[in-house]
Amino acid sequence: MSLSTKFRVRPEDKVDLDHLDADWKPKGMDRAEAEEKFAQLTTRLQDLQHMMYAEDKRSLLVVLQGRDAAGKDGTIRHVFGPMNPQGCKVTSFKVPSKLEASHDFLWRCHLAAPRRGQVGIFNRSHYEDVLVVRVHDLVPEARWKARYEHINNFERLLADSGTTVLKFMLHIDRDEQLERFRKRIDKPHKNWKISDADYSERRYWDDYTKAFSDVLRRCSRDEAPWFVIPSNRKWARNFAIASIVAETMEGLGMAFPEPTVDMDEIKRMYHEAENAE
Ligand code: ADP
Repeated sequence: MSLSTKFRVRPEDKVDLDHLDADWKPKGMDRAEAEEKFAQLTTRLQDLQHMMYAEDKRSLLVVLQGRDAAGKDGTIRHVFGPMNPQGCKVTSFKVPSKLEASHDFLWRCHLAAPRRGQVGIFNRSHYEDVLVVRVHDLVPEARWKARYEHINNFERLLADSGTTVLKFMLHIDRDEQLERFRKRIDKPHKNWKISDADYSERRYWDDYTKAFSDVLRRCSRDEAPWFVIPSNRKWARNFAIASIVAETMEGLGMAFPEPTVDMDEIKRMYHEAENAE
């Protein structure tokens, strides 16, 4: 079974995050083998991105969500870091600015959506508006409840316009999160990542579980699927995400565009110029 099939959430699936193994590793592969395969995958991803850029016909949007310390930053660095920055744009969504908050909740996300030929990566996304916003009652229930449908319609619009949408929920368990917080304290170069919110949000663990489950059930659609990626092991997480993105991009049937010039004529002119020198 491919990893796309294994980790994909089918529409209306109820994912039980409390009992989902976050320690998964690829079958029959140790870490060294997976890392070797991962290196090959990132080279393949570079080629595929290059083709998407050259073809200039369609785009890819990758949405990353997860609890604090789930590894969104690390995924971007390791899986998408090797891509050509010319055709790749990362957008990190924070607490909405005054301007953003004065528009509808999808406005800032639509603005950041990748244009033709580009790979767009969302570090957090419009899903914050049914996650943190729901958990902290930032808007009335009727308003956030209506957002699932708005989100599905928005993503269908992107898909109909030539954007392939892949959404990854990085799944870590409670112990792993605490361990990562500890490392942030112990390693001076990680201290900057610590925020008060890390610990206060942890108290809302079960509320987030509920909010994530509803997101997965209501917003995983054929045209914009969710994947729940077991992420306690960073190397397994990177391997899984790179595999799924590569498999999806391979399936797009992309091709380099035909040359816009007469190649025989160009070669003839080249030989003439060469002989004249
Ligand atoms: P990160 O944790 O992504 O590295 P920050 O520490 O700056 O970066 O956290 C960004 C914060 O912005 C998160 O707490 C997130 O929940 C919050 N946020 C993002 N989008 C929204 C939103 N639409 N409404 C409220 N808070 C949001």
